[in-house]
Amino acid sequence: MAFDAIVVGGGFAGLSAATALAERGARVLVVEARPSLGGRAAAFTDPATGERVDNGQHVLFGCYGETFRFLRRIGAEDRVRLQDRLAVDVVDRDGRASRLACPPLPSPFHLLAGVLTWDALPLRDRLSVIYMRGKGGLQPGRNETVREWLVRRGQAPRLIELLWEPLAVAALNQSIDVAAAAPFARVLATMLAGGPRGAALALPARPLDHMYALPAKAFIEQRGGEVRTNAPAQIACDQLNVTVRGESSSGRAVIAAVPWYALPDTLLSPPPELARTVAAAAHTAASPIVTVNLWLDRVVTDGMFVGLPGRTMQWVFDKRTIFGERASHLSLVSSGAEHIVASGNQELIDLAVAEIRDALPGARAATVTRAVVVREKRATFSVAPGQPARPETRTAVPGLFLAGDWIDTGLPATIEGAVLSGHLAAAAALS
Ligand SMILES: Cc1cc2nc3c(=O)[nH]c(=O)nc-3n(C[C@H](O)[C@H](O)[C@H](O)COP(=O)(O)OP(=O)(O)OC[C@H]3O[C@@H](n4cnc5c(N)ncnc54)[C@H](O)[C@@H]3O)c2cc1C
Repeated sequence: MAFDAIVVGGGFAGLSAATALAERGARVLVVEARPSLGGRAAAFTDPATGERVDNGQHVLFGCYGETFRFLRRIGAEDRVRLQDRLAVDVVDRDGRASRLACPPLPSPFHLLAGVLTWDALPLRDRLSVIYMRGKGGLQPGRNETVREWLVRRGQAPRLIELLWEPLAVAALNQSIDVAAAAPFARVLATMLAGGPRGAALALPARPLDHMYALPAKAFIEQRGGEVRTNAPAQIACDQLNVTVRGESSSGRAVIAAVPWYALPDTLLSPPPELARTVAAAAHTAASPIVTVNLWLDRVVTDGMFVGLPGRTMQWVFDKRTIFGERASHLSLVSSGAEHIVASGNQELIDLAVAEIRDALPGARAATVTRAVVVREKRATFSVAPGQPARPETRTAVPGLFLAGDWIDTGLPATIEGAVLSGHLAAAAALS
């Protein structure tokens, strides 16, 4: 069958590329290997409670311009709740609760004022935020880690622990002692460039499939395209054919929107010009995320989420408050989770329960009625210095384009990076 474009992979990158092409009148085929769409941002039904559970809590920032453009296109912008300005409840390692709230000032003064009035840390430590921009703007050195960069920028250890480390680990999914500073600096610059809302947090108000994957599928099909799941594909680079279980389809353009670790097996007989890209994909390291979902016999927090800096589970999200009556579980997230990803389920559940009881007084008398652990071993690609170079959208094969969060957008492995890469691939295919 012939299509204008074939997109291999139905995650944020593939679906943003496919909908951008469909919007411009192209007849698109999307092929996804798994039984459902969504990739690393997906949901499943918990058999015991019947609730939809995300494979892990996803948080967006107000500065995710490409993502909001994608959501507007598919009519799903209202499926995300965006704060007016950054506001975060935090419980530190000693159990002290505080709130970082940014006032309505132009950026970056809202963040400066928020930190300067944050009573979680002594005034002397708060003042160090003023030195963050310093001479030469936010530019980090080559091979500098996030911690080295923050220390060089004069940030107090307590400000690093309570603000910068949770933010960086959430954005990069890697310890600040390992991750390179450059992608974090890029995230910060984007957050601060977009006005006070740029740094505000946004949470999906629906399970991830309903938030974006199903609306994107409907958008593509309404414009004459097709979306096939259970369709593991291989791309024959010489003829630009896409083959699924022996059935071939051809497109004037093919977009490989698969993760780095799937690219080598997806490309069939890549020409020598693609060898470096395939080798880079094969040698890129991954970083895991562990999520422990807990059902308790009572409500233990008022807000949607609480930051738990200094703990293994760095954030707790109350899905009941976020999703409404459809859900009743807490989602505890451990990013950059190399040190616990191999632990057993009961060990992880015990750890999550102990941490939440320690941090939230309301949880101390609560009984756990159910727990579900989700390990995403290859949640994101590593941004440690020394990783292989990330490839560009265009390849040496005419008509073959790459998308996915690991494409060289300068952003870390995020929804925004994935959607930006999808939009770049669609634009390249159209041109
Ligand atoms: C637990 C977790 C929490 C996260 N939290 C956040 C967060 O808070 N904020 C944020 O911005 N980002 C977060 N991320 C990162 C974000 O989910 C990813 O950056 C993004 O989803 C990547 O999208 P993608 O389309 O590039 O890749 P993927 O989602 O991996 O999609 C690629 C798709 O290609 C399919 N595929 C592979 N090979 C083939 C083939 N041969 N044929 C057909 N299909 C194929 C795969 O099955 C997959 O569905 C998180 C990730 C995880 C795992």
